[in-house]
Parts: sequence; structure tokens; C-alpha cells
Amino acid sequence: MSDLRYERPSSLKDAVAVLGAAAGGARLVAGGTDLMVASHYGRMNAQVLVNIKHIPELNVLGPTADGGLEIGAALPVYRLYETPQIVKTYAALAEGAFNIGSVQIRNRATVGGNLCNASACMDTGPGLLVLDAELKIFGTNGYRMLPLKNFFKGYKSFDLAPDEVLVSVVLPKPPADLRSGFEKLKRTKGHDLALVNAAASYVPSTGVLKAAVGACSAIPLRLPELNVAGKSVADVEAIFVENALANICPISDVRSCSEYRRDMTALFCQRLVARLLGSGK
Ligand SMILES: Cc1cc2nc3c(=O)[nH]c(=O)nc-3n(C[C@H](O)[C@H](O)[C@H](O)COP(=O)(O)OP(=O)(O)OC[C@H]3O[C@@H](n4cnc5c(N)ncnc54)[C@H](O)[C@@H]3O)c2cc1C
Repeated sequence: MSDLRYERPSSLKDAVAVLGAAAGGARLVAGGTDLMVASHYGRMNAQVLVNIKHIPELNVLGPTADGGLEIGAALPVYRLYETPQIVKTYAALAEGAFNIGSVQIRNRATVGGNLCNASACMDTGPGLLVLDAELKIFGTNGYRMLPLKNFFKGYKSFDLAPDEVLVSVVLPKPPADLRSGFEKLKRTKGHDLALVNAAASYVPSTGVLKAAVGACSAIPLRLPELNVAGKSVADVEAIFVENALANICPISDVRSCSEYRRDMTALFCQRLVARLLGSGK
């Protein structure tokens, strides 16, 4: 820890220059709620710590030119559920963010840190997956866009080079009748990581139903999307549950056994179908 250098570059370009010069020995820090825990347990493994929380491009929150929404990677997650447009239009994301840790954690933790910590039980991942989020990434070679569904590669592994920064999350223009929601189960009623979480989105005019499940495989898992146009709610529920159980592969660990995770995934699928298709809410 004593050899650790701290940098606070004032621009995105300078941040990437520091990352490039460190040749893999630097770690970005935003809210620090994951990184400081890793540091405490001797798992940070870095010579340079690069603070990016103040960089303007990482703090945007506003419409895109084509009617979508851009969310800066360094925005604290409370901003997601305190922004009326997100609550109304992208409910699965607002509900996921509201379920992260405690008030203190949500004031500090960022959406970019949540995605780049790459925990399978992250609470923003499932909502962003069913809302077709894309990631804006900046590195030595400039900007690139990447669909979130292609970002996660395996346990704690994701598509971001050592000299790249996640700048923002971009949500596409929502269909006028988009509905979405999020469910989470934890061991205690207070703050705890999910033993299962799940999100779904549904567009009645097209019949397209999307789902993602967390904590039931090595990554937050986007399930194959379904077209349920013309089907009864009972049929949709059965197909939706079958689709989820055929794709997840939960393990048993300190939070839950695998069987309970499967049962809770099925329950969340039923609840999400009831919420999004059943009552029309
Ligand atoms: C008590 C407690 C309770 C928690 N409860 C929950 C919970 O219920 N649900 C949940 O999902 N999480 C929970 N967490 C985990 C954590 O708060 C979140 O993952 C948080 O969103 C991380 O954001 P951060 O800004 O603090 O990340 P940091 O700790 O700053 O960074 C995390 C990782 O992401 C990298 N990183 C950060 N920003 C970027 C970027 N823009 N580009 C590239 N890489 C980046 C860092 O290098 C680091 O590897 C909890 C943590 C604690 C300590």
C-alpha cells in the first residue's frame, strides 16, 4: 500500500494516458465502495490509483440525439431512482439501483463501478440488459460503442482493455408502451447482495418479452428473448419460467443453495409476468 501512487487527471484523455503509461498496473476508482473493500483485504493489486469520479463526460445525465438517454458512468446510483424520467420509462433500472446496499452506499457507488466490478449479483446489470443498454468506452484508440449483452465474458471478466474507461451507459429510445421491472431476494431485509435478482421488459405492441437473471451463473445473464404475442398470461408464465430455468446454472454458496436459487428464479419470473402482462401495470 505504501508504494501506491494516486492520480486525479482532469480530463478523460489524461486518464487514459495515465492508464496507458502504467501498462496494466493502474486501477480506476470511482465511488470506491468495491475497490476499498478489495484494498482492505489485500486484493487491489495496483501501483497507481486513478480517480475518475469528477471527469465531466462521466457525469452526464441527459437525452441522446435519437431520443434515448445517456447516463455517465460516474453518477452515483441514487441519481437513477431520483430521476423521474428513469423511474417512469426505465423502471427496471431505477428499481435495481434502489436495491443497492444502503443509503450511504447508494450515495457513493456509481453505475460504472457496479458494471466494471462485474459481480454476477450486481443490481444494475439485469435492468440494463433488458433495456438493451450500450456502453460508451474511451481508450487510446478513441471511442467505441459496445452492447452490454456482449460486455461480460465470464466470472469477473469483461471486454475492457487496461487503457480503457467506461464513459457512459446509453439507453435506446424506448417504445411508447415499454414496461419493465426488477425483483431481488436477499438474506436480510437490510442491505445485502442478491442471492437472486431478475429483470424483465415487455412491449405489448410487439409481444417481445426480455429477461435477465443475476447470481445464477458466472455473469448477469440475458436470457433468449421471447415473442409472446397472442398468448394467455398463464401460457406466457409457463414459457417464461421454462426459458429461465433452462438457461441458468446457479451454484450453492454462503448465500443460498442452488435449488433455492432455481425456485426463486421461477417465482420472480411469475411475478414479473404478473406485473408486466397481468394487470397492465
Ligand atoms: C456494504 C456494501 C453493500 C453493497 N451492496 C450492494 C448491493 O446490494 N448490490 C450491488 O449491486 N452492489 C453492492 N455493493 C457493491 C458496490 O457498492 C457496487 O458494485 C458499486 O456500484 C460499485 O461502484 P463504485 O463506484 O463504488 O466502484 P469502485 O469501487 O470505485 O470500482 C469498482 C471497480 O470498477 C472499476 N471502475 C469503476 N469505474 C469505472 C469506469 N468508469 N470504467 C472502468 N472501470 C471502472 C474499478 O477499477 C474497480 O475495479 C455493496 C458494497 C458494499 C461495501
